[in-house]
Amino acid sequence: MTAYDPENIFAKILRGEIPCYKVYEDPHTLAFLDIMPRSPGHVLVIPKAPARNILDITADDFAHVARTAHKIASAARKAFNADGITVQQFNEHAGGQAVFHLHMHVMPRTTGVALLPPMSHKETPQVLEDHATRLIAALGAA
Ligand code: AMP
Repeated sequence: MTAYDPENIFAKILRGEIPCYKVYEDPHTLAFLDIMPRSPGHVLVIPKAPARNILDITADDFAHVARTAHKIASAARKAFNADGITVQQFNEHAGGQAVFHLHMHVMPRTTGVALLPPMSHKETPQVLEDHATRLIAALGAA
C-alpha cells in the first residue's frame, strides 16, 4: 500500500496550516465540518495519528475515532433534530477514498431526504459557522 503522505489536506488541518470548522478535539482525535457536506451538519472525525486509512491505522487509534464518532452522532441528532445518522468510512481509491488521512463521516439524516453526491456543493462560511455552533452547543449539553 502507498505510504502515508504528510502533505494531505487533513494533515495540514491537524498542523493548523489550513483552517477548519472544528467541533470537537481530544488528545487522540479531531472532528470538524465537511466543507462540501452531503447533509447539513456533515462532520469528519480524524485521528491525530498519521494513518492513511483502516489498512494502516492501529486498532487503538481506530477505536479512538469510533468513540468520537459515537459522541458526534449523538450531538448531531440533537443539533439537527435528525431522524437518523449515516456513518461512512472509505479506504483506498477502490473503496471510495479521496483524502488519504483516515476519516469517518457522520451525517445527520432526515426521513425522505437523500444525501447529496460527494463533493458536489461547497457550503457557505455563514452556514458552516452556524452548524459548528449548533454542534458545539449540543456536545456541551451532552
Ligand atoms: P472521502 O475521502 O471520499 O471519504 O471524502 C473526503 C471528504 O473530505 C469529502 O467529503 C470532502 O468534501 C471533504 N473535504 C475535502 N477537503 C476538505 C476540507 N478542507 N475541509 C473539510 N472537508 C474537506
